[in-house]
Amino acid sequence: MIKAVGLTKRYGRVEALKEFSLEVQPGEILALVGPNGAGKTTALKLLVGLLTPSAGTVSIGGYDVFRQPLEAKRILAFLPDQPFLYEQLTVGETLGFIGGVYRLPPQTLRQRATELLSLFGLSDLVDHRVGRLSFGMKSRLVLVASLLHEPQALIMDEPFFGLDPKTLQLIKRLLVERVRQGMAVLLSTHQLGVVEDLAHRVAILDRGRTIALGALDELKRLHGGTRLEELFFHLTDR
Ligand code: ATP
Repeated sequence: MIKAVGLTKRYGRVEALKEFSLEVQPGEILALVGPNGAGKTTALKLLVGLLTPSAGTVSIGGYDVFRQPLEAKRILAFLPDQPFLYEQLTVGETLGFIGGVYRLPPQTLRQRATELLSLFGLSDLVDHRVGRLSFGMKSRLVLVASLLHEPQALIMDEPFFGLDPKTLQLIKRLLVERVRQGMAVLLSTHQLGVVEDLAHRVAILDRGRTIALGALDELKRLHGGTRLEELFFHLTDR
């Protein structure tokens, strides 16, 4: 569902990502971890077409992200590390705007927005201006907005930052449920505990290179360590 082949990105002399290749299947969660500056955000932005690669290709659901951007983006959702929201709009207006971008029929939009707002505890805030929401509430709104069009591929950059334990649990449950229904998820995070709870496979990036990729148990067997944290330090300290 999400496929990168030989992705390379150079910023002038800095090679931020080198020959990055991976595939995320429907019904799978793959976590991208790595030290600061490893190239995670660069990889995710290339995958969703926000950056142009120096080399390599990307496809979402078989659609080339650069040659068939509309087809790819119709089935994709991206949560950036610093999401942009229009502060002057209300929560309801924000979802109306996003629903319009994806051309959702009004009734479908109303039904999905009502369900997701209730799930994320935002129902009472429909008429509140986005600018007045707390950081965590904005994060929940961004998640609601990203799920409105029922994406088949969900790509998330640090989605768990600043969330309270209850919201974190809610998101984990929701991801597990959606993934069981066939969604493919690729996420980057520094929260290794969440990765152990959620991810089917893990890719470890260091200085732009993929230094490990596989199921957590398999990586632990290959490289030693009983926890992802140990494995992470062992591989990235080399
Ligand atoms: P973090 O965990 O800190 O968010 P990351 O793994 O997401 O880091 P990237 O943001 O992808 O890392 O950065 C990878 C490398 O590319 C870093 O060396 C960074 O300084 C460099 N880089 C990123 N964006 C640019 C840019 N616009 N111009 C020049 N260099 C950049």
